[in-house]
Amino acid sequence: MKTIVTNGEGDIWDEERPRPEPDPGEALVRIRAVGICGSDIGLIHGEGPPWTEYPLTPGHEVCAEVVELGDDVESLSVGDRVALHGFVYCGTCTACREGRYYQCDDLREIGFTVAGGTRR
Ligand SMILES: [Zn+2]
Ligand SMILES: [Zn+2]
Repeated sequence: MKTIVTNGEGDIWDEERPRPEPDPGEALVRIRAVGICGSDIGLIHGEGPPWTEYPLTPGHEVCAEVVELGDDVESLSVGDRVALHGFVYCGTCTACREGRYYQCDDLREIGFTVAGGTRR
């Protein structure tokens, strides 16, 4: 698959990456549309939040279509159209169980600490 990558120093380029395989509880999606947020422009120029992990694929406003499901996924079907939540969280730590997923012990942020969406 092709993706866009930035180093946070004003550079942005295309990269070929292997197609990911969904782990249990995960869905693999094909990106259908991505919004360009003002923070994406900042990310390219190194003005993201301090937890930003470069090199990075920006894009956290993502609409997609489910193309493959990992084991134990029952709430989605292949072909479903979805909007991605910007946070990836464990769902089992104390903060998650209390509804404070944004304080998850294992919080990851799409387009900041894990790859965001690229529409090609
Ligand atoms: Zn945004
Ligand atoms: Zn958690």
